[in-house]
Amino acid sequence: MFLSSGVKKLYKNRVKGKGEACFSFPGTNNFGRAEGYGKTSEMQKKSLFFLVVYSFMVTFVKVLHFKLFMRKILFWVVVTFAALALAIIVDRCAGKQSAGPANDGRENFVVITDVVPDAILEIRYFSTYNFVGSRIDGYEEPVALLTREAADSLRAVSDDVKQLGYRLKIYDAYRPQKAVDHFVRWAANMTDTLMKPYFYPDLDKHVLFPQGYIAEKSGHTRGSTIDLTLFDMKMEKELDMGGTFDFFGLQSHPSFGGNPDTQQYVPTEGITAEQFANRMTLRLAMMRHGFKPLDEEWWHFTLRNEPFPDTYFTFPVKSF
Ligand SMILES: [Zn+2]
Repeated sequence: MFLSSGVKKLYKNRVKGKGEACFSFPGTNNFGRAEGYGKTSEMQKKSLFFLVVYSFMVTFVKVLHFKLFMRKILFWVVVTFAALALAIIVDRCAGKQSAGPANDGRENFVVITDVVPDAILEIRYFSTYNFVGSRIDGYEEPVALLTREAADSLRAVSDDVKQLGYRLKIYDAYRPQKAVDHFVRWAANMTDTLMKPYFYPDLDKHVLFPQGYIAEKSGHTRGSTIDLTLFDMKMEKELDMGGTFDFFGLQSHPSFGGNPDTQQYVPTEGITAEQFANRMTLRLAMMRHGFKPLDEEWWHFTLRNEPFPDTYFTFPVKSF
């Protein structure tokens, strides 16, 4: 009876809530732990502090009006209830915090090789062999993650190309926002051209951002986009695509050397008919199973009906 209505209300809200945040403060959302998580925790502490002070003040004032015997009884009843309420609230908050990883959206993702065991991985952003030349932020393990829907479609692609003697070789899949932020930071540093001879020999680094090679957002961060190539099982190496992954230039466009809509090769310096045909083999296999290609990169595909078209995830790349 001495518990403040605020305590009751908070606990009631917590129990009746949708299980997203410990308390429903503004600024929190399902996935934005990086934005709202710290703020919520600070507000919780303040709320708890004020509730404790308020409860004790009410108790103190009321206790003054009772006789000594009743005062002692009531005091301990109040203390017991207050401690119980606080214990429940704190416990639930702590439980929510420890269950935090499940609140950042990763429960919608799978480790690709769990769904597509035939796939070969070469996670370039975990390696230093990429256009930056160092391990990219957010890549904590050399694994590839995708949404369940995208991974299921990729399994169908894998089974398909296996009939042709190929396997899928994956360079990248889900890419956390902090990795994209790393790319942007790198693009702004004009003095860092460590990997230029390999990935952008014909371009001045100044044009990478303006020309869209690097952007502040990537479809990969939504979890249904993948970079990959085909691996020839008899040759024990990747198919010759007439160009390499993450090469910044026109040579990487699917239209380089032909018409990707008709798969017709047009004799072009820098790409043979066979190399163009190999690109088309990958492209058609991906499109047959629900992926859409990108005009600038022959290796990049996004699930046409991606489940999170507007969500940019933040959790790191690691197995779970
Ligand atoms: Zn890509």
